[in-house]
Amino acid sequence: MHKTDPRPVHSYYEHSRNRKIGTPALEHDSTFEVVVVGGGLSGCSTALHLAEQGVKVAVLEARHFGWGASGRSGGQIINGFACGQDTLEKLLGLETARQLWDHSVKSVEYTRKLVDRHRIDCDLTMGYMHLAEKRRQVTELEETAADLADKYGYHRMALHGRSGLGTWLGSDLYAAGLSDSGSGHLHPLNYCLGIAAAAKKAGARLFQHSPVTAVESSGGRTTVTCNGVRIHCDTVVYGCNAYLDGLAKEISGTIMPVGTYIIATEPLTEEIALELIPSRAAMADLNFILDYYRLSADHRMLFGGRVSYSTFEPLRLTGSLNRRMLRVFPRLSGTKIEFSWGGYVAITRNRAPHVGRLQNGNWFVQGYSGHGMALAGYMGKIIARAVMGDTDEFDCFAGIPHKHFPGGRWLRMPGLVAAMGYYKLRDRF
Ligand SMILES: Cc1cc2nc3c(=O)[nH]c(=O)nc-3n(C[C@H](O)[C@H](O)[C@H](O)COP(=O)(O)OP(=O)(O)OC[C@H]3O[C@@H](n4cnc5c(N)ncnc54)[C@H](O)[C@@H]3O)c2cc1C
Repeated sequence: MHKTDPRPVHSYYEHSRNRKIGTPALEHDSTFEVVVVGGGLSGCSTALHLAEQGVKVAVLEARHFGWGASGRSGGQIINGFACGQDTLEKLLGLETARQLWDHSVKSVEYTRKLVDRHRIDCDLTMGYMHLAEKRRQVTELEETAADLADKYGYHRMALHGRSGLGTWLGSDLYAAGLSDSGSGHLHPLNYCLGIAAAAKKAGARLFQHSPVTAVESSGGRTTVTCNGVRIHCDTVVYGCNAYLDGLAKEISGTIMPVGTYIIATEPLTEEIALELIPSRAAMADLNFILDYYRLSADHRMLFGGRVSYSTFEPLRLTGSLNRRMLRVFPRLSGTKIEFSWGGYVAITRNRAPHVGRLQNGNWFVQGYSGHGMALAGYMGKIIARAVMGDTDEFDCFAGIPHKHFPGGRWLRMPGLVAAMGYYKLRDRF
């Protein structure tokens, strides 16, 4: 899987997608108020919220809707941020860190609202658990639960020792788990396609097979080039995330594409599936290179993990993920793996999302750092409001400071690969 690999994605999600968004490629010069680049959750949700306000908006997607991370993801809708609240506290102080935490909690609630309002069939299931294997991780869970309750007023978490884990998870691997009734999981591709369909219904024009190759702004007007035609608009919103490449040079240096991978087993019997995860909650451990897994609606085990800091797929990926899955669930030995796929997340240096406005007036949202499933749909609403002139919520996110990765596009990779070696070692102890 290379970032520009045009082949269809061999994922369980493509296999179980419940709709196709039949849209044309852009073929004629045209004019819109807003052009959104990227047909993932960020882009589709921005378009939905703008179209609902009567804005003439188009979404240009290089391949098809949900082709990027949004249609390949683990599907875990989790509150909080990849960087953790302590990073936000250090960067912005407790008050702003609290506001951001509240936004993250709202992002999960808002996902539920969108699913409900637009009747999106995407297997939404609430329940989540953070898992600790090692003693130091148990302490981390205890501290997290206490901090979130005391400092952030969040009381939807409960700590479970080894003996209390059985009703949640059928694995002997873990020493403790922290459950969270405010997070959950869904079928990410069907969710994204549902948002795209809602945007279309609200009046947004959607175009697939429409890669944007240039954006030029001057004198308050912007021209977008795509498929050899030109679109004139007032403003552009970039929702390209890890697939941005060099399209907007001002923001490409703050993100790094990182590959992450998932396997899906054949369907298990309901009885076996519920022995493995009786709670049906989504699970993730606390390792830096984490394992994340959950059951699909048709009782497959979807098991994700492994990362690649080069833009090439690691060799023997399926076997390696299968071994990690068997470490958690030895009884899945001999179970067929029917799908394996990967995609790119965009990480930032501090692992906080990067949201902002460029000097030429165009907007962007990116860098969820593997934590964008609930946030991207919510950010669409916030960006749309900002484009319409209400920047209160936008400013809260745009205030997070970001630095460029050192080195050019290629030089920054070896540094990260070296860092990964360190974290892999740390995960062992
Ligand atoms: C394997 C995997 C597992 C993940 N698991 C989770 C998880 O469990 N929970 C979680 O919270 N997050 C998870 N994530 C991250 C999450 O999926 C992303 O944060 C989120 O989907 C980002 O959405 P987006 O719309 O910003 O980007 P994307 O969904 O990547 O969409 C960007 C789109 O822009 C298009 N594009 C790029 N350049 C152009 C151009 N020039 N012209 C036109 N179109 C263009 C691309 O084709 C792409 O479709 C995972 C990601 C991956 C890859």
